[in-house]
Amino acid sequence: MKDYLVKSVVKDGMFRAYAVRTTNLVAEAQKRHDSWSASTAALGRSLTATLLLSSSVLKGEEKLTVKINGGGPTGTIVVDGNANGTVKGYLQNPHVSLPLNGNHHIDVGGAVGHEGVMAVTKDMGMGDPFTGQVGLVSGEIGDDFTYYLAQSEQIPSAVGVSVFVNPDETVGVAGGFLIQVLPDATDDAIDELQARLNALPLVSEMLRDGKTPEQILTEIFSIDDVKFLDKMNVSFKCDCSKERFAKSLATLSKKEIQEMIDQDHGAEAVCHFCGNKYQFSEKDLQEIIDYQK
Ligand SMILES: [Zn+2]
Repeated sequence: MKDYLVKSVVKDGMFRAYAVRTTNLVAEAQKRHDSWSASTAALGRSLTATLLLSSSVLKGEEKLTVKINGGGPTGTIVVDGNANGTVKGYLQNPHVSLPLNGNHHIDVGGAVGHEGVMAVTKDMGMGDPFTGQVGLVSGEIGDDFTYYLAQSEQIPSAVGVSVFVNPDETVGVAGGFLIQVLPDATDDAIDELQARLNALPLVSEMLRDGKTPEQILTEIFSIDDVKFLDKMNVSFKCDCSKERFAKSLATLSKKEIQEMIDQDHGAEAVCHFCGNKYQFSEKDLQEIIDYQK
């Protein structure tokens, strides 16, 4: 089954609702970062929530970067998203696994920590990017994105994201939903939504039962109330290249690059986001120095 995201409006415009399956995407991230269960769940939830956020608030070529630092063992999590359904992301420590929490779930809050902030930098393609920052609520990621949307974007929302990791560290399922409350929503409709969300199984349980993103939304709302608008494939995709790394090497001083030639006889650049490695020979480095002149 392919990963995809669906967009919908509910109850004639009272809510906007999105749901996504990210199983393959999070599996790709797990493989690339060789991550362990708590790190996989923390990064997978962040990738999923960033996809949902990006597809709900961005248009065209706009981009955003989410940085979460809760002071926990995973260290900082960084995810880049856009309106076209691709994300890339990494965390400082991919090798975190913790005992299950009191609910018998992966302890994402314990792994991420909640003594810190979540910052979202939006690049709208015109001048200076804008950063909105909020304190973390629980480090469980879904709550933190919900709080960010309410505080920074002034959009009352509900975000649910979930990752199931198999005992052998591979990813079983991953996905999530995002619901935005629009100004026309009545108090009764909001109360009903709240009650349904409280009774909702985990997204990962619904996905393991074979439910599709459309079915996740019709589990939350009555099927007659949901009008599906759009469906979009989603994937983990990095845009790094040797040329990009050459450009960042070119910002170093001539002396520093000369040292790489004399001492290391070359250089290796590793992309944090995807783990790809790029080799620079002595000749490549010399060309960068020559280019600087
Ligand atoms: Zn990369």
